[in-house]
Amino acid sequence: MKELEERIRKEGTVKEGNVLKVDAFLNHQCDVALYDAMGAAWAEHFAGKNINKILTIEASGIGMACVAARHFGNVPVVFAKKAQSINLDGDQYVTTVYSFTKQREFPVIVSRKYLGPEDHVLLIDDFLANGKALHGLIDICKHAGATVEGIGIAVEKGFQGGGDQLREEGYDVDSLAIVESMDPTTGDIEFRH
Ligand code: 5GP
Repeated sequence: MKELEERIRKEGTVKEGNVLKVDAFLNHQCDVALYDAMGAAWAEHFAGKNINKILTIEASGIGMACVAARHFGNVPVVFAKKAQSINLDGDQYVTTVYSFTKQREFPVIVSRKYLGPEDHVLLIDDFLANGKALHGLIDICKHAGATVEGIGIAVEKGFQGGGDQLREEGYDVDSLAIVESMDPTTGDIEFRH
């Protein structure tokens, strides 16, 4: 998506440790018009799919998932919660995710009330790096017996391999910008086309 690539080039900053900061429009200040264009792009890509729910993970995925839902017939958006500790009362699906940014594992939960075998799910997240967050969401869908219809990502860092692994596993991954390389010294960013 040209518009997203241009914004990343103009306003993104490359940090050490393979971190791309896009706080100006995606991760801190939110450009709602851009979110809307992203939602339209995912809706076009997944047009043939019978999606009745969007699943994301807190916190950055929530805003863009909610705007995207407007393009999928206002389907409900469920966000997986990052829990401090697992309080297993049987009402939740639980999995463990390793956080790229926090560099630690944490439990992720979704209530059984909001995901089940009747659901055909689009997974949405802001970033795809090694794929840990997405594999956590897929795991939760498996527990729930829900079908993963596709994965919509704003920014994939292609050089970290998570996206290609998910494609090899057979998932339809639509990343709106794929960063092929980025240099923290020069700030140069190359995209995959
Ligand atoms: P993964 O689980 O695929 O390794 O990493 C994806 C998750 O880590 C996303 O949910 C995102 O919040 C965070 N993340 C990974 N890489 C970046 C990055 O370069 N910039 C930002 N802002 N978040 C990232």
